[in-house]
Amino acid sequence: MEIHHRVVVGSRVNEDQAAGAIQERHWREQYREAGQCPTLTAPVLKGTGESKPKPASTASRATTAIAALILALCAAGLSGCVLKLATTVEAPAPLTLDAFLSDDSPCYDRSAQPQTSVIDSHVHFRPFGGPAIPFGQMVQYLQETGVLFANIYGIGQTLPVTSSCTYYLDCPGTPVTPSLKNDFVNAANYVTAAQSGVHLTLAMTFPDLAEPETILPGIELLETEYPGLFQWMGEVNLVKQALFDNGHTPVSPATISEWAPFMEVLRDRGFPFAVHSDLGSEDAPTLYLPLMEEVLRQYPDNVIVWVHMGLSRELTTMDAARHVELMTALLERYPNLMLDIAWRVLDDAYFSTPDGLAAYVPFLNTHSERILPGTDFLASHDKSLDIYRTELEVTSRINRYLDDDAFRDIALGQNYFRLLGLDYEAPPICP
Ligand SMILES: [Zn+2]
Repeated sequence: MEIHHRVVVGSRVNEDQAAGAIQERHWREQYREAGQCPTLTAPVLKGTGESKPKPASTASRATTAIAALILALCAAGLSGCVLKLATTVEAPAPLTLDAFLSDDSPCYDRSAQPQTSVIDSHVHFRPFGGPAIPFGQMVQYLQETGVLFANIYGIGQTLPVTSSCTYYLDCPGTPVTPSLKNDFVNAANYVTAAQSGVHLTLAMTFPDLAEPETILPGIELLETEYPGLFQWMGEVNLVKQALFDNGHTPVSPATISEWAPFMEVLRDRGFPFAVHSDLGSEDAPTLYLPLMEEVLRQYPDNVIVWVHMGLSRELTTMDAARHVELMTALLERYPNLMLDIAWRVLDDAYFSTPDGLAAYVPFLNTHSERILPGTDFLASHDKSLDIYRTELEVTSRINRYLDDDAFRDIALGQNYFRLLGLDYEAPPICP
C-alpha cells in the first residue's frame, strides 16, 4: 500500500513543514501497523520544496479542519479507513524537462509550486572512501525531489582504498589525494545507467592543482576513454582548511602560473572550472584571498566558479556585509567569475541570520546571473533520500526571498543553461 509522499492542505504548503513531516511519519506508521491505507486524493502536491509563505484562505482553513477531523478518526482506529478527500484546490503538475524545451510552457507559480531549485550544480556522486549510493539510486533521488539538472561531481580527493574511512574528518592523519578513480566510475555509470527525465553533466574532479603537469594527461585519458562526455571541471581544491590534517596544503602562487596549459584546454572546450578555495578562517577571514585573486588575475578568460563563495565551516562568523562587498568587487572586476552558493553551511551560518538576509538577498538579486545553486550532497552509502531532500530544502531556503528574475536565473536554472549553452529555457514566472 502506498501513502502519498506529501500531503499538503490548502495553500499552507509548508509553513509547518517539520511538524508536517513528523505527522506524516506518524500516519505512515499507524497505517502500516493497521494494514490500512488512507487515500487523500487532494490537495496533494508532489513537489518537495517550500512554497512562499501565504495566508491560508477561508476555504483552505476549512479544508484543513476537515482533513484534521478525518485523519483523527482514522487515527482512532476505525477499520477499513479509505478516504477520498475532495477539494477544489488543484496542485500544479511537477515540472518536467519538457517545460524547459517548449516555447509556450505555463508560467511558474511561486505561490503554489516548489521553492526548491530544479538544478543541483554541486552534487558529489562519489564519497571520499567506502561504498557509494548506487548511481541509479542517486539519479532517483534527483527525480524524487524535482531536481531536473545536475552536475555529476566525483570528489576532489580520495582516501586510500585500504582505509575503512568514509569521511576524511574522521581519520586525521590519513592522507587524501586527488585521483582519476571516481571520474572513471562516474563516466562508466553515466553511459550505462538509466537517467530518464534528468539532464546530467559529467565533471572531472581528479586534478591535483599542486601537480599541474599531471592534469593534461588526465584530461586526455578521460577524453580518450569517454569522448565528449565530460563538460565541466571541479570541484577541485586550491585551499581547503578542512583537509589540512589529511596532508593537503594550499597550492602555492608560483604553481598557479603553471596551470596555463590545462586552463587553455578548458577555455577551448568551454568547460567551467569550479574551485574550492577557502577565503580564510574566523581569526583571519581573508587569509587566503590572495590565492583566489591570483587565479582570477592570471586566467580572466576562463569561466571560474568559486564554490561556496569561499565560505566554510572554518569561516562562519565573517561580517556578511563585508563578504558581500568583497564578492561584489570581484564580480565587477572579473566578468567570467561565477559564484556557487552550494552547501548548507551558507544558509545555516549566513543566509538565515537577519544580517545575512539583509546583505545577501539584494546581492543575489543584483548579481543573479552569476550565481549557481547546489546541495554539496556527498553520496556515501550511509546517506538516504531524506538527507538529500533536507539538504536540497535547506540550500534552497534562500530562494523564497529572491525576486522573480533571480529565482528564474538561479533556482530554475537559467544561468546554468546559459553557461553551458544548453538548449533549455526556464519557464517565465507568473505575474
Ligand atoms: Zn563539494
